[in-house]
Amino acid sequence: MSLKNAFTIIFGKLMVKTLHLLGRDAGNFPGLVLWTINKDCLKAFKVDCPIVAVTGTNGKTSVTNYLSHIFASGGKKIITNPEGNNLDTGICSLLLNHCDMRGRVHADYLVLETDESHVPVVYSKLNLQTLVLLNFFRDQLDRNGEVETLILKVKKFLETFEGNVVLNADDPNVARLGLANPNNKNIHYFSVDRYQGATDKPYEVGEGKFCPFCDTELVYDYYQYSHIGKFHCPKCGFGNIEPEVEIKNVDLTVPSFEADGETYKTAHNSIYYMYNMAAVYTAAKLYNFDKAILHDTFEHFEVNNGRLERFEVDGSSLLVNLAKNPVGANMTLRVMNEQAGSKELLFVLNDNLADGHDVSWIWDINFSVFNNVDRVVTSGTRAYDIAIRIKCSGYDPDKIFVYPDLDEATASLFSTKGDKFAIANYTAIQPTRAAIKRYKSLKENGEEK
Ligand SMILES: [Zn+2]
Repeated sequence: MSLKNAFTIIFGKLMVKTLHLLGRDAGNFPGLVLWTINKDCLKAFKVDCPIVAVTGTNGKTSVTNYLSHIFASGGKKIITNPEGNNLDTGICSLLLNHCDMRGRVHADYLVLETDESHVPVVYSKLNLQTLVLLNFFRDQLDRNGEVETLILKVKKFLETFEGNVVLNADDPNVARLGLANPNNKNIHYFSVDRYQGATDKPYEVGEGKFCPFCDTELVYDYYQYSHIGKFHCPKCGFGNIEPEVEIKNVDLTVPSFEADGETYKTAHNSIYYMYNMAAVYTAAKLYNFDKAILHDTFEHFEVNNGRLERFEVDGSSLLVNLAKNPVGANMTLRVMNEQAGSKELLFVLNDNLADGHDVSWIWDINFSVFNNVDRVVTSGTRAYDIAIRIKCSGYDPDKIFVYPDLDEATASLFSTKGDKFAIANYTAIQPTRAAIKRYKSLKENGEEK
């Protein structure tokens, strides 16, 4: 180990120890400091175990958590970032927390959620075995720039990568990357067969409607959601991929799906979630995990961090979902609309730094398809913006209630009984969960607010 690397690790470990002694959660900070003093700090770690990385616009926290659960259930010692500290500095902090004074990281596997734009920089320094790529949507334009720039960044990395690449065959933005390195024989496509809610025309806004190779408009047999579906290019033939794993017989009522002739029950019932499970299944298959572990994970495992998280409050059921972009929000709305009976929606919108100050993405959410939505409550630093957006979709403004304060919004939401849904963006999700838990505990302890 070079002197510089040895110093980097010792300095970092001392920093983490000092923060712990001060009773502080080290978080991202040590990684940030280390990155500032040594741009190659990731090279200072000695990681001998395989690394599985999960990336894509939506679903990477869930898929990382599911894969981690499967690896751990299979008796593997894993290190992971379940809360999604997925930038280079976050991964650096994670390794610093788990290494010894010589920088050695002891685990059977690292399972790492990794931000799309950070894939090239992190894995030019750490040895990646498998990259799982879920989807590419427009997301936080302030930070990431156009989605095409992001795709090209990952493509450049894949041009020389020879490890496993798990790709969504139904997203043209992702499927195209299977051709980035013609010498890589380890490309594993997954797909989900047409489900009952698929449409012949696009239902929501999407990216990637043109062939990335010849600019011809792609032809879709059907759309599952957004631009995800069965597509091909009529000119050059891009698409029509024979997937290695095809999820079939998706049944959102049970809910369940079929893979390799076996039926798996699942904990959630959206097509978006089924795609996540398809990615999990395909990656798990590469590592030959026992089917019993997969059955148990798909049916019972819950991430519980605001990704399709269920709450039972005061006799009402509430499903909370994070949405950082129109596709995420549309997915929750789709789950809501596909459920029979009347329901109410809470939408919490913040515009803090991590959310991006530009909230114009809410205009790409498809609110015009509300089905039996009795009431909408809005909250967050941009509570009025989202209320106006929903009003402009034609929804009755008398049914929209604006409470910038989250506790007031939560109390208003639960002032009626019945099924509820909540959508919150990035910095809003944890405060929303906290407000729900506070309200639930107040109710259960009999203290009326
Ligand atoms: Zn083409």
